[in-house]
Amino acid sequence: MLDIKWIRMNQERVQTVADQKGIVISIAELLEWDEKRRALLAETEGLRESRNKLSQQIGSLTRQGDFGQIEPIKLRVKQINDSLLQCEMNLSEAETRYSELMMLVPNNVSHDTPYGKSDLDNVELKRVGEPRMADYSLKDHVALGELHEMIDVPRGVKTAGSRNYYLKGEGVLLHRAVQQLAFDLLIAQGFTPLEVPLTARPEALRNTGFFPLGEDQTYRIAEEDRWLVGTSEVPLVTYYANEIVNVDEPIKLAAASVCFRSEVGSTGKDVHGLYRVHQFAKVEQVILCDADPELSDRILQEITANAERLLQLLELPYRVVAVCTGDMSQKTYKQYDIETWMPSRQAYGETHSSSNLHDFQARRSNIRYRDADGRLQYCHTLNNTAVASPRILIPLLENHQDEDGSISIPAALRPYMGGRERLYPLH
Ligand code: AMP
Repeated sequence: MLDIKWIRMNQERVQTVADQKGIVISIAELLEWDEKRRALLAETEGLRESRNKLSQQIGSLTRQGDFGQIEPIKLRVKQINDSLLQCEMNLSEAETRYSELMMLVPNNVSHDTPYGKSDLDNVELKRVGEPRMADYSLKDHVALGELHEMIDVPRGVKTAGSRNYYLKGEGVLLHRAVQQLAFDLLIAQGFTPLEVPLTARPEALRNTGFFPLGEDQTYRIAEEDRWLVGTSEVPLVTYYANEIVNVDEPIKLAAASVCFRSEVGSTGKDVHGLYRVHQFAKVEQVILCDADPELSDRILQEITANAERLLQLLELPYRVVAVCTGDMSQKTYKQYDIETWMPSRQAYGETHSSSNLHDFQARRSNIRYRDADGRLQYCHTLNNTAVASPRILIPLLENHQDEDGSISIPAALRPYMGGRERLYPLH
Protein backbone atom coordinates (compact mmCIF):
# COMPACT_ATOMS: atom_id res chain seq x y z
CA MET A 1 0.00 0.00 0.00
CA LEU A 2 1.22 3.47 -0.76
CA ASP A 3 0.72 6.52 1.40
CA ILE A 4 -2.40 8.34 0.12
CA LYS A 5 -0.61 11.68 0.54
CA TRP A 6 2.12 10.43 -1.81
CA ILE A 7 -0.49 9.19 -4.28
CA ARG A 8 -2.20 12.61 -4.27
CA MET A 9 1.10 14.28 -5.08
CA ASN A 10 2.17 11.72 -7.69
CA GLN A 11 -1.09 10.84 -9.40
CA GLU A 12 0.37 10.60 -12.90
CA ARG A 13 3.32 8.47 -11.83
CA VAL A 14 1.08 6.01 -9.96
CA GLN A 15 -1.26 5.70 -12.96
CA THR A 16 1.71 5.08 -15.28
CA VAL A 17 3.12 2.34 -13.05
CA ALA A 18 -0.34 0.73 -12.77
CA ASP A 19 -0.66 0.72 -16.56
CA GLN A 20 2.86 -0.68 -16.95
CA LYS A 21 2.17 -3.44 -14.43
CA GLY A 22 -1.10 -4.25 -16.19
CA ILE A 23 -3.29 -3.34 -13.21
CA VAL A 24 -6.71 -1.98 -14.13
CA ILE A 25 -7.37 1.01 -11.90
CA SER A 26 -8.23 4.68 -12.35
CA ILE A 27 -6.18 6.72 -9.90
CA ALA A 28 -8.43 9.72 -10.71
CA GLU A 29 -11.42 7.69 -9.46
CA LEU A 30 -9.50 6.68 -6.33
CA LEU A 31 -8.76 10.34 -5.59
CA GLU A 32 -12.39 11.29 -6.17
CA TRP A 33 -13.50 8.72 -3.57
CA ASP A 34 -10.74 9.92 -1.27
CA GLU A 35 -12.03 13.49 -1.54
CA LYS A 36 -15.63 12.36 -1.08
CA ARG A 37 -14.86 10.32 2.00
CA ARG A 38 -12.88 13.15 3.58
CA ALA A 39 -15.70 15.65 2.89
CA LEU A 40 -18.28 13.19 4.26
CA LEU A 41 -16.15 12.53 7.33
CA ALA A 42 -15.98 16.28 8.04
CA GLU A 43 -19.74 16.62 7.45
CA THR A 44 -20.52 13.67 9.75
CA GLU A 45 -18.33 15.07 12.48
CA GLY A 46 -19.95 18.52 12.07
CA LEU A 47 -23.44 17.04 12.37
CA ARG A 48 -22.46 15.02 15.45
CA GLU A 49 -21.04 18.14 17.07
CA SER A 50 -24.24 20.14 16.37
CA ARG A 51 -26.35 17.30 17.76
CA ASN A 52 -24.25 17.15 20.93
CA LYS A 53 -24.62 20.91 21.46
CA LEU A 54 -28.39 20.72 21.00
CA SER A 55 -28.62 17.74 23.37
CA GLN A 56 -26.74 19.77 25.99
CA GLN A 57 -29.18 22.67 25.46
CA ILE A 58 -32.12 20.29 25.93
CA GLY A 59 -30.49 19.05 29.14
CA SER A 60 -30.04 22.52 30.61
CA LEU A 61 -33.52 23.71 29.51
CA THR A 62 -34.99 20.59 31.16
CA ARG A 63 -33.09 21.33 34.38
CA GLN A 64 -34.39 24.93 34.28
CA GLY A 65 -37.95 23.62 33.70
CA ASP A 66 -38.14 25.69 30.49
CA PHE A 67 -40.10 23.10 28.50
CA GLY A 68 -41.57 25.58 26.01
CA GLN A 69 -38.33 25.90 24.03
CA ILE A 70 -37.47 22.20 24.04
CA GLU A 71 -39.84 20.98 21.31
CA PRO A 72 -38.34 23.01 18.40
CA ILE A 73 -34.84 21.92 19.48
CA LYS A 74 -35.95 18.28 19.60
CA LEU A 75 -37.32 18.69 16.07
CA ARG A 76 -33.95 20.05 14.96
CA VAL A 77 -32.17 17.08 16.60
CA LYS A 78 -34.45 14.73 14.70
CA GLN A 79 -33.60 16.50 11.41
CA ILE A 80 -29.89 16.24 12.22
CA ASN A 81 -30.27 12.52 13.03
CA ASP A 82 -31.90 11.94 9.63
CA SER A 83 -29.10 13.83 7.85
CA LEU A 84 -26.50 11.98 9.93
CA LEU A 85 -27.94 8.60 8.96
CA GLN A 86 -27.76 9.50 5.27
CA CYS A 87 -24.27 10.95 5.71
CA GLU A 88 -23.03 7.83 7.51
CA MET A 89 -24.41 5.62 4.75
CA ASN A 90 -22.68 7.72 2.10
CA LEU A 91 -19.47 7.71 4.14
CA SER A 92 -19.54 3.94 4.51
CA GLU A 93 -19.97 3.56 0.73
CA ALA A 94 -17.11 6.00 0.06
CA GLU A 95 -14.83 4.26 2.61
CA THR A 96 -15.56 0.84 1.08
CA ARG A 97 -14.93 1.99 -2.48
CA TYR A 98 -11.80 3.88 -1.41
CA SER A 99 -10.40 0.84 0.43
CA GLU A 100 -11.15 -1.48 -2.49
CA LEU A 101 -9.32 0.82 -4.89
CA MET A 102 -6.40 1.35 -2.46
CA MET A 103 -5.92 -2.43 -2.43
CA LEU A 104 -5.31 -2.31 -6.19
CA VAL A 105 -2.77 0.52 -6.20
CA PRO A 106 0.62 -0.84 -7.24
CA ASN A 107 3.88 -0.14 -5.50
CA ASN A 108 6.11 2.37 -7.26
CA VAL A 109 9.08 0.92 -9.18
CA SER A 110 12.74 1.86 -8.88
CA HIS A 111 14.25 4.24 -11.44
CA ASP A 112 16.45 1.42 -12.81
CA THR A 113 13.56 -1.02 -13.38
CA PRO A 114 13.38 -1.70 -17.13
CA TYR A 115 10.13 -0.92 -18.91
CA GLY A 116 8.57 -3.92 -20.64
CA LYS A 117 5.43 -5.94 -21.24
CA SER A 118 6.45 -9.48 -20.25
CA ASP A 119 9.37 -11.66 -19.13
CA LEU A 120 10.68 -11.42 -22.71
CA ASP A 121 11.58 -7.80 -21.92
CA ASN A 122 13.60 -8.62 -18.78
CA VAL A 123 17.18 -7.41 -19.08
CA GLU A 124 20.09 -9.79 -18.60
CA LEU A 125 22.63 -8.40 -16.12
CA LYS A 126 25.13 -11.24 -15.97
CA ARG A 127 25.83 -14.87 -16.83
CA VAL A 128 27.81 -17.25 -14.68
CA GLY A 129 29.04 -20.60 -16.06
CA GLU A 130 28.60 -22.07 -19.52
CA PRO A 131 25.39 -23.73 -20.70
CA ARG A 132 25.85 -27.51 -20.71
CA MET A 133 26.65 -28.95 -24.14
CA ALA A 134 27.45 -32.60 -24.97
CA ASP A 135 28.28 -34.62 -28.07
CA TYR A 136 25.58 -37.12 -27.13
CA SER A 137 21.93 -36.37 -26.68
CA LEU A 138 21.13 -35.16 -23.20
CA LYS A 139 18.14 -36.72 -21.48
CA ASP A 140 15.52 -34.54 -19.87
CA HIS A 141 14.74 -34.73 -16.14
CA VAL A 142 11.63 -36.87 -16.67
CA ALA A 143 13.61 -39.51 -18.59
CA LEU A 144 16.42 -39.39 -16.02
CA GLY A 145 13.86 -39.54 -13.22
CA GLU A 146 12.38 -42.71 -14.73
CA LEU A 147 15.82 -44.30 -15.20
CA HIS A 148 16.59 -43.68 -11.54
CA GLU A 149 13.01 -44.31 -10.38
CA MET A 150 13.08 -40.93 -8.65
CA ILE A 151 10.33 -38.99 -10.46
CA ASP A 152 6.87 -40.37 -11.19
CA VAL A 153 4.48 -37.93 -12.83
CA PRO A 154 1.79 -40.42 -14.04
CA ARG A 155 1.17 -41.71 -10.52
CA GLY A 156 1.09 -38.11 -9.21
CA VAL A 157 -1.63 -37.35 -11.76
CA LYS A 158 -3.48 -40.56 -10.81
CA THR A 159 -3.57 -39.43 -7.17
CA ALA A 160 -4.02 -35.66 -7.39
CA GLY A 161 -4.63 -34.62 -11.00
CA SER A 162 -2.45 -32.69 -13.42
CA ARG A 163 0.70 -30.87 -12.26
CA ASN A 164 1.28 -33.39 -9.46
CA TYR A 165 4.09 -35.90 -9.03
CA TYR A 166 5.76 -38.33 -6.70
CA LEU A 167 9.44 -38.18 -5.83
CA LYS A 168 10.90 -41.49 -4.77
CA GLY A 169 14.16 -42.90 -3.40
CA GLU A 170 17.11 -40.75 -4.38
CA GLY A 171 14.69 -38.15 -5.79
CA VAL A 172 13.46 -37.52 -2.26
CA LEU A 173 17.01 -37.46 -0.91
CA LEU A 174 18.06 -34.88 -3.51
CA HIS A 175 14.91 -32.81 -2.88
CA ARG A 176 15.67 -32.70 0.85
CA ALA A 177 19.43 -32.28 0.35
CA VAL A 178 19.12 -29.07 -1.71
CA GLN A 179 16.75 -27.61 0.88
CA GLN A 180 19.01 -28.48 3.79
CA LEU A 181 22.05 -27.07 1.99
CA ALA A 182 20.15 -23.81 1.31
CA PHE A 183 18.86 -23.66 4.88
CA ASP A 184 22.34 -24.21 6.34
CA LEU A 185 23.74 -21.46 4.09
CA LEU A 186 21.14 -19.02 5.41
CA ILE A 187 21.69 -19.97 9.03
CA ALA A 188 25.43 -19.42 8.52
CA GLN A 189 24.50 -15.92 7.24
CA GLY A 190 22.66 -15.10 10.47
CA PHE A 191 19.10 -15.91 9.37
CA THR A 192 16.71 -17.10 12.08
CA PRO A 193 14.91 -20.29 11.06
CA LEU A 194 11.15 -20.55 11.55
CA GLU A 195 8.65 -23.35 11.07
CA VAL A 196 5.54 -21.55 9.84
CA PRO A 197 1.77 -22.08 9.45
CA LEU A 198 0.94 -23.23 5.94
CA THR A 199 -2.57 -21.84 6.06
CA ALA A 200 -3.39 -18.17 6.45
CA ARG A 201 -6.33 -15.88 7.08
CA PRO A 202 -7.33 -13.66 4.14
CA GLU A 203 -6.05 -10.54 5.90
CA ALA A 204 -2.54 -12.04 6.06
CA LEU A 205 -2.67 -12.58 2.30
CA ARG A 206 -4.12 -9.12 1.72
CA ASN A 207 -1.59 -7.42 3.95
CA THR A 208 1.37 -9.14 2.33
CA GLY A 209 0.10 -8.07 -1.10
CA PHE A 210 -1.12 -11.42 -2.47
CA PHE A 211 -4.83 -10.54 -2.30
CA PRO A 212 -7.00 -9.35 -3.93
CA LEU A 213 -5.09 -9.69 -7.21
CA GLY A 214 -3.61 -13.15 -6.57
CA GLU A 215 -6.70 -14.66 -5.01
CA ASP A 216 -7.33 -16.99 -7.94
CA GLN A 217 -3.76 -18.36 -7.55
CA THR A 218 -4.53 -19.50 -4.02
CA TYR A 219 -6.31 -22.62 -2.76
CA ARG A 220 -9.03 -22.02 -0.21
CA ILE A 221 -9.89 -24.56 2.46
CA ALA A 222 -13.54 -25.40 1.78
CA GLU A 223 -16.05 -24.01 4.29
CA GLU A 224 -13.30 -22.07 6.07
CA ASP A 225 -11.94 -18.57 5.66
CA ARG A 226 -8.39 -19.90 5.49
CA TRP A 227 -6.15 -20.39 2.51
CA LEU A 228 -3.11 -22.56 1.68
CA VAL A 229 -0.02 -20.38 1.36
CA GLY A 230 1.79 -20.19 -1.97
CA THR A 231 4.98 -19.06 -0.23
CA SER A 232 6.27 -18.79 3.33
CA GLU A 233 6.77 -15.06 2.66
CA VAL A 234 3.15 -14.71 3.88
CA PRO A 235 3.61 -16.21 7.37
CA LEU A 236 7.16 -14.83 7.71
CA VAL A 237 6.10 -11.21 7.14
CA THR A 238 2.84 -11.60 9.07
CA TYR A 239 4.85 -12.84 12.07
CA TYR A 240 5.48 -9.14 12.82
CA ALA A 241 2.08 -7.72 11.70
CA ASN A 242 0.77 -4.91 13.94
CA GLU A 243 4.04 -4.82 15.88
CA ILE A 244 6.76 -2.28 16.48
CA VAL A 245 10.03 -4.02 15.64
CA ASN A 246 13.65 -3.32 16.35
CA VAL A 247 15.54 -3.02 13.07
CA ASP A 248 18.78 -1.58 14.43
CA GLU A 249 20.10 -4.66 12.68
CA PRO A 250 18.03 -6.03 9.77
CA ILE A 251 15.76 -8.89 10.82
CA LYS A 252 16.63 -11.97 8.75
CA LEU A 253 14.12 -14.82 8.65
CA ALA A 254 14.24 -18.16 6.86
CA ALA A 255 11.67 -20.90 6.45
CA ALA A 256 11.48 -24.15 4.55
CA SER A 257 7.90 -24.81 3.60
CA VAL A 258 5.59 -26.53 1.22
CA CYS A 259 3.93 -24.07 -1.19
CA PHE A 260 0.61 -24.55 -2.96
CA ARG A 261 -0.38 -22.78 -6.16
CA SER A 262 -3.49 -23.19 -8.27
CA GLU A 263 -1.59 -22.01 -11.38
CA VAL A 264 -4.84 -20.62 -12.78
CA GLY A 265 -3.99 -18.86 -16.02
CA SER A 266 -1.13 -21.26 -16.84
CA THR A 267 -3.29 -23.71 -18.79
CA GLY A 268 -1.16 -25.43 -21.40
CA LYS A 269 2.03 -23.72 -20.15
CA ASP A 270 5.03 -25.77 -18.92
CA VAL A 271 2.97 -28.95 -18.74
CA HIS A 272 5.95 -31.31 -19.07
CA GLY A 273 7.64 -32.68 -15.97
CA LEU A 274 8.35 -30.77 -12.78
CA TYR A 275 8.67 -27.18 -13.96
CA ARG A 276 5.23 -25.87 -13.02
CA VAL A 277 3.44 -27.93 -10.39
CA HIS A 278 0.73 -27.33 -7.80
CA GLN A 279 2.83 -28.23 -4.77
CA PHE A 280 6.51 -27.66 -4.19
CA ALA A 281 9.00 -26.94 -1.41
CA LYS A 282 10.76 -23.63 -1.02
CA VAL A 283 13.40 -22.28 1.32
CA GLU A 284 12.68 -18.58 1.56
CA GLN A 285 14.66 -15.58 2.80
CA VAL A 286 12.74 -12.62 4.23
CA ILE A 287 14.33 -9.45 5.56
CA LEU A 288 12.89 -6.45 7.42
CA CYS A 289 15.05 -3.36 7.69
CA ASP A 290 14.69 0.35 8.28
CA ALA A 291 13.22 2.49 5.52
CA ASP A 292 16.51 3.54 4.01
CA PRO A 293 16.39 2.98 0.22
CA GLU A 294 20.18 2.61 -0.02
CA LEU A 295 20.21 0.00 2.74
CA SER A 296 17.35 -2.04 1.30
CA ASP A 297 18.92 -1.91 -2.15
CA ARG A 298 22.17 -3.24 -0.65
CA ILE A 299 20.23 -6.03 1.06
CA LEU A 300 18.55 -6.87 -2.25
CA GLN A 301 22.03 -7.48 -3.68
CA GLU A 302 22.93 -9.61 -0.64
CA ILE A 303 19.90 -11.89 -0.79
CA THR A 304 20.44 -12.25 -4.52
CA ALA A 305 24.07 -13.19 -3.85
CA ASN A 306 22.90 -15.81 -1.31
CA ALA A 307 20.91 -17.53 -4.04
CA GLU A 308 23.80 -17.22 -6.48
CA ARG A 309 26.10 -18.83 -3.92
CA LEU A 310 23.78 -21.83 -3.74
CA LEU A 311 23.78 -22.21 -7.52
CA GLN A 312 27.56 -21.97 -7.56
CA LEU A 313 27.75 -24.71 -4.92
CA LEU A 314 25.40 -26.79 -7.04
CA GLU A 315 27.77 -26.10 -9.98
CA LEU A 316 24.95 -24.88 -12.19
CA PRO A 317 25.14 -22.26 -14.97
CA TYR A 318 22.79 -19.35 -14.43
CA ARG A 319 22.04 -15.76 -15.32
CA VAL A 320 20.59 -12.83 -13.41
CA VAL A 321 17.96 -10.62 -15.05
CA ALA A 322 16.44 -7.30 -14.03
CA VAL A 323 12.70 -7.89 -14.09
CA CYS A 324 10.71 -5.40 -16.18
CA THR A 325 7.57 -3.52 -15.12
CA GLY A 326 5.19 -5.82 -17.02
CA ASP A 327 6.59 -8.97 -15.36
CA MET A 328 6.47 -7.52 -11.83
CA SER A 329 3.76 -8.05 -9.29
CA GLN A 330 1.72 -5.26 -7.73
CA LYS A 331 3.77 -5.22 -4.54
CA THR A 332 7.27 -5.14 -6.02
CA TYR A 333 9.52 -2.07 -6.13
CA LYS A 334 12.57 -3.73 -7.67
CA GLN A 335 13.18 -7.33 -8.70
CA TYR A 336 15.89 -9.63 -10.00
CA ASP A 337 15.17 -13.13 -11.22
CA ILE A 338 17.81 -15.81 -11.39
CA GLU A 339 17.40 -18.26 -14.21
CA THR A 340 19.29 -21.54 -14.32
CA TRP A 341 20.30 -23.36 -17.48
CA MET A 342 17.92 -26.21 -18.28
CA PRO A 343 19.24 -28.36 -21.18
CA SER A 344 15.80 -29.86 -21.95
CA ARG A 345 14.39 -26.37 -22.50
CA GLN A 346 17.55 -25.22 -24.29
CA ALA A 347 17.04 -22.09 -22.21
CA TYR A 348 17.49 -20.53 -18.82
CA GLY A 349 14.45 -21.14 -16.62
CA GLU A 350 13.48 -19.07 -13.58
CA THR A 351 14.57 -20.68 -10.33
CA HIS A 352 14.76 -17.67 -7.96
CA SER A 353 12.96 -14.38 -7.54
CA SER A 354 14.51 -11.62 -5.45
CA SER A 355 12.41 -8.57 -4.52
CA ASN A 356 12.58 -5.31 -2.62
CA LEU A 357 9.10 -4.15 -1.62
CA HIS A 358 10.11 -0.94 0.15
CA ASP A 359 7.38 -0.12 2.71
CA PHE A 360 4.44 -1.46 0.64
CA GLN A 361 3.99 -4.68 2.65
CA ALA A 362 4.84 -3.09 6.00
CA ARG A 363 2.17 -0.40 5.51
CA ARG A 364 -0.49 -2.99 4.79
CA SER A 365 0.75 -5.27 7.58
CA ASN A 366 1.32 -2.35 9.97
CA ILE A 367 4.92 -3.21 10.84
CA ARG A 368 6.75 -0.20 12.22
CA TYR A 369 9.97 0.76 13.99
CA ARG A 370 11.20 3.86 15.81
CA ASP A 371 13.71 5.92 13.87
CA ALA A 372 16.65 7.79 15.42
CA ASP A 373 14.28 10.65 16.40
CA GLY A 374 11.83 8.25 18.04
CA ARG A 375 9.25 8.61 15.26
CA LEU A 376 7.35 5.57 14.09
CA GLN A 377 8.14 4.55 10.50
CA TYR A 378 7.10 1.64 8.31
CA CYS A 379 10.03 -0.66 7.61
CA HIS A 380 11.18 -2.05 4.27
CA THR A 381 10.68 -5.75 3.49
CA LEU A 382 12.53 -7.97 1.02
CA ASN A 383 12.37 -11.60 0.02
CA ASN A 384 14.13 -14.11 -2.18
CA THR A 385 14.04 -17.81 -2.86
CA ALA A 386 17.02 -19.68 -1.44
CA VAL A 387 15.98 -22.79 -3.31
CA ALA A 388 12.73 -24.18 -4.73
CA SER A 389 12.43 -27.89 -5.35
CA PRO A 390 11.56 -29.91 -7.39
CA ARG A 391 12.13 -27.17 -10.02
CA ILE A 392 15.83 -27.04 -9.13
CA LEU A 393 16.05 -30.81 -9.76
CA ILE A 394 15.55 -30.05 -13.47
CA PRO A 395 18.91 -28.28 -13.93
CA LEU A 396 20.54 -30.43 -11.26
CA LEU A 397 19.77 -33.73 -12.99
CA GLU A 398 20.05 -32.48 -16.55
CA ASN A 399 23.34 -30.59 -16.18
CA HIS A 400 25.09 -33.27 -14.12
CA GLN A 401 24.16 -36.32 -16.22
CA ASP A 402 26.61 -38.53 -18.07
CA GLU A 403 26.11 -40.55 -21.22
CA ASP A 404 25.23 -43.71 -19.22
CA GLY A 405 22.47 -41.80 -17.42
CA SER A 406 24.43 -41.57 -14.16
CA ILE A 407 24.37 -38.28 -12.29
CA SER A 408 27.34 -36.76 -10.54
CA ILE A 409 26.59 -35.08 -7.24
CA PRO A 410 28.21 -31.67 -6.69
CA ALA A 411 30.73 -31.75 -3.83
CA ALA A 412 28.69 -29.35 -1.63
CA LEU A 413 25.69 -31.69 -1.78
CA ARG A 414 27.54 -34.92 -0.97
CA PRO A 415 27.47 -34.53 2.83
CA TYR A 416 23.66 -34.39 2.53
CA MET A 417 23.61 -37.49 0.27
CA GLY A 418 25.47 -39.91 2.53
CA GLY A 419 28.79 -38.97 0.93
CA ARG A 420 27.82 -40.39 -2.47
CA GLU A 421 29.55 -38.87 -5.49
CA ARG A 422 27.38 -40.35 -8.23
CA LEU A 423 23.92 -41.84 -8.66
CA TYR A 424 23.57 -44.78 -11.05
CA PRO A 425 20.43 -45.63 -13.05
CA LEU A 426 18.38 -48.56 -11.80
CA HIS A 427 17.44 -49.59 -15.35
P1 AMP B 1 7.82 -16.88 -6.54
O1 AMP B 1 7.54 -17.10 -5.08
O2 AMP B 1 6.59 -16.89 -7.40
O3 AMP B 1 8.70 -15.69 -6.77
O4 AMP B 1 8.63 -18.14 -7.03
C1 AMP B 1 9.88 -18.46 -6.47
C2 AMP B 1 10.38 -19.72 -7.09
O5 AMP B 1 9.52 -20.80 -6.74
C3 AMP B 1 10.40 -19.72 -8.60
O6 AMP B 1 11.55 -19.06 -9.09
C4 AMP B 1 10.42 -21.20 -8.87
O7 AMP B 1 11.72 -21.75 -8.67
C5 AMP B 1 9.51 -21.75 -7.79
N1 AMP B 1 8.12 -21.90 -8.28
C6 AMP B 1 7.18 -20.94 -8.36
N2 AMP B 1 6.02 -21.44 -8.83
C7 AMP B 1 6.24 -22.75 -9.05
C8 AMP B 1 5.44 -23.81 -9.54
N3 AMP B 1 4.16 -23.66 -9.86
N4 AMP B 1 6.00 -25.04 -9.64
C9 AMP B 1 7.29 -25.24 -9.28
N5 AMP B 1 8.08 -24.29 -8.80
C10 AMP B 1 7.58 -23.04 -8.70
